[in-house]
Amino acid sequence: MLERDAAKYPFLKEAVRLVDALNIQLNDLADPSFSKILDRATERVTEAIIEGVVEAKLEDYMTELLSYPVASMLVSLKGDSFLDRRYALAEAVRIYFLLMKEDSKTLFDIAINEFNWDLQNTKENYDGQTYPFKLFFNNYLHSSSIFHEDKWKLVNRILKNGYVLLQQNEVARLIQGEVEMLIRERVSNRVNFDLPSPIKLKLEEISKIFEENRRKIGAEDLPLEVIREAFPPCMTYCLEGLLSGRRASHMERFALTSFLINVGMPIESIVDLYVSVTDFDEALTRYQIEHIAGLKGNKTRYTPPLCDTLRTHGICRNKDEICERIKHPLNYYRIKAKRVIASQPKENGTNIINN
Ligand code: SF4
Repeated sequence: MLERDAAKYPFLKEAVRLVDALNIQLNDLADPSFSKILDRATERVTEAIIEGVVEAKLEDYMTELLSYPVASMLVSLKGDSFLDRRYALAEAVRIYFLLMKEDSKTLFDIAINEFNWDLQNTKENYDGQTYPFKLFFNNYLHSSSIFHEDKWKLVNRILKNGYVLLQQNEVARLIQGEVEMLIRERVSNRVNFDLPSPIKLKLEEISKIFEENRRKIGAEDLPLEVIREAFPPCMTYCLEGLLSGRRASHMERFALTSFLINVGMPIESIVDLYVSVTDFDEALTRYQIEHIAGLKGNKTRYTPPLCDTLRTHGICRNKDEICERIKHPLNYYRIKAKRVIASQPKENGTNIINN
């Protein structure tokens, strides 16, 4: 396997074999000759915390490749399930962006060799759309299980002779889902051992950055998953309006988007939500969402407007008793989420709308 490919897709079995063959031990990482790898690993985790996506840096293939297992180890050592999810998603989004630039052969290679998918070429046309891929429904169900938008439900897909018709970006997105599950499983496997001091220092650096950004990235006081039942009535009104195709005001879209970002819905899922139910341009929608999330432009992460402002714009609807106690929709969500979690043991499942 080419080092460049291994650096791009370090989760591939061949890339893992390449790393294993180097037989690098924990104490080796403490040696100054490995400092570039340790620095890049720390940077990967920091990018995941702050930006929500790990950048693909392909100037130095081996550093990029070797920093991936080290970054995973650091996340695992940190032992915070919110960080596990955030890191897994940030690495998976990195993969998605890379896959979007690849030809279909690479998608086939990864889908078939890594995930054993039954993915085939096709040339189906439906409603003016061409579908160049079809995926066996069982594989589809597994890889889409991490997504909760209506668009990914099997009933909303075109199914032909047991195969789901897909476009290239959808195949890339499904691979992203598989990668996210894979990384999440890996980093949630807790490790604990005596660390050489350079690694300990890096872990402290990550902990500091995570704590500084905890509130900003929605890791504080809010549940790890997005709980649909905990949405305040105004946000339910906005979301249902969007899903039913009602034309929404700018304020309504801003309030809903900033709310979804702040309760921890991944950017990808929000983009999907808008693009799947509207005719919005994907690139522009993504830019606007990333702008509200503070990843673009003036780097300010916006929160939803106060209840008073939403009332002025006619968005405060169907108030209930919690509304009498709060002044901000996120405070409503905090209170209601605690109630939902308390009343519904996790094994019974809550209606979670993101991954
Ligand atoms: S009071 Fe606030 S949280 Fe409740 S519906 Fe109105 S705007 Fe939303």
